[in-house]
Amino acid sequence: MRNNILLPLVILLCLHFPSISQDSISAEVEKYVSHPRGSYLLQNLTLVDGTGQPARRNQDILINGEYIAEIGQDLDIPENTRVIDMNGRSAMPGMVMLHEHLFYPKSTPEANYGVDQMSFSFPKLYLAGGVTSMRTGGSIMPQADVSIKQWIDEGRIIGPKMDVTSPHMDRVGVPIMEMFNFDSPEEAVRQVNFYADLGMTSIKVYNFLTREDLKAIVDAAHARNMKVTGHLCSITYREAADIGIDNIEHGFGSCPDFVENKVADQCYPFMVPGLLASDPGSEEVTGLIRHLIENNVAMTTTINVWEPYTGREIVPGGGLVALAPTAKHMVYQRWASMQGKDSVAIAQFNKLKLLDKQFHDAGGLLVAGTDPTYDGRIVAGYANMRLLEIFIEMGFTLPEAVMICTYNGARYLDLDETIGTLEKGKLADIVIMKEDITKNVSAIRSEKIVFKNGIGYNSRALFEAVKGYVGIR
Ligand SMILES: [Zn+2]
Repeated sequence: MRNNILLPLVILLCLHFPSISQDSISAEVEKYVSHPRGSYLLQNLTLVDGTGQPARRNQDILINGEYIAEIGQDLDIPENTRVIDMNGRSAMPGMVMLHEHLFYPKSTPEANYGVDQMSFSFPKLYLAGGVTSMRTGGSIMPQADVSIKQWIDEGRIIGPKMDVTSPHMDRVGVPIMEMFNFDSPEEAVRQVNFYADLGMTSIKVYNFLTREDLKAIVDAAHARNMKVTGHLCSITYREAADIGIDNIEHGFGSCPDFVENKVADQCYPFMVPGLLASDPGSEEVTGLIRHLIENNVAMTTTINVWEPYTGREIVPGGGLVALAPTAKHMVYQRWASMQGKDSVAIAQFNKLKLLDKQFHDAGGLLVAGTDPTYDGRIVAGYANMRLLEIFIEMGFTLPEAVMICTYNGARYLDLDETIGTLEKGKLADIVIMKEDITKNVSAIRSEKIVFKNGIGYNSRALFEAVKGYVGIR
């Protein structure tokens, strides 16, 4: 009997979700395609190629299938190639962003913080913002994130290529009900292996774990070919580097090394005074940066998270239009109540701008991520565009800013042979902007063709598709 009841459902599911081969795309994805896979000669572009080298003008890019076949001036036109004059437009590699999430915050009366999964809107928004590859920086619905990655790879839904990170691994401490905790290094190792078996490829650790926990997690993760990143609090950056962590999140924004009289393995959530008192020129700071670099620890700046309220956009990057009415209300209330009252946040933002840049300038691998959490002002896609603008505010040159958002991310993920720069032989992951980014970094907000694996998608159509839905789906 049971079988009889289930059978129609199974047939229905099969009809509804035809199996799709690796290289095909569904009608759902097709809607956003402006340039189907083929052969294109894109002429007269201004290129910022991701290597950190100065921009080049009057460049042609030849795309053949999934790959960049050639880049140079006045390229010959091969047979069966569509020629497109891109005069006035500019191009950079697809962004490779390393602290993204597929969730958005909500306020709850039961716990002071919570998030909702945005499986439907965020993958579209990331791609629309120019992100062609991303690592999630912690998952709230691990099975959903793994599944979304698979659906994107199979061409069923649209979004960037993904490196999926585990849920935030931690001991009890952070009052977020949706987080899962462990109480021994053995249990932590069991969770690492569980996440690896699920198909996750990175591990994220959080605020309250001990050094012993971290050591066990790092060893277990490395044995499974996974890298470990941390938003730390109980463990200092110096200690984490000694233990063998691969990456530290939030730049110096969650750095416990400057907390006075810090007790080992103990989290002090209020790290701002130590941070504000830290002197960028001191041995305390320069020595720590040197120690991280010597131990091959990459640092992810999420400087946009600290963007102050006063006189700034409500949702930086232009993302207010994306929010559902309830989310808009929540974000606006907070933003309005903080106008003129965020002097500490402004000081913190300015200090972090110095320190995160100092890590890069000293030769550290600085990577970028936007971390759409906190107060709801950070919206996928829009925040990625905004982060590039903030990098210019920080004093980075445009080629440096682009490199941090592209090549550096690819280097961290060990994917720099295939993505991260505009070079012959690499995958055609290319952001073509309607305006010239060398004239104004905000050209990143102009309409884009986002090529991923040689297929061009229209950013406007993607943004339009989810306008008013962030916070709901
Ligand atoms: Zn995060």
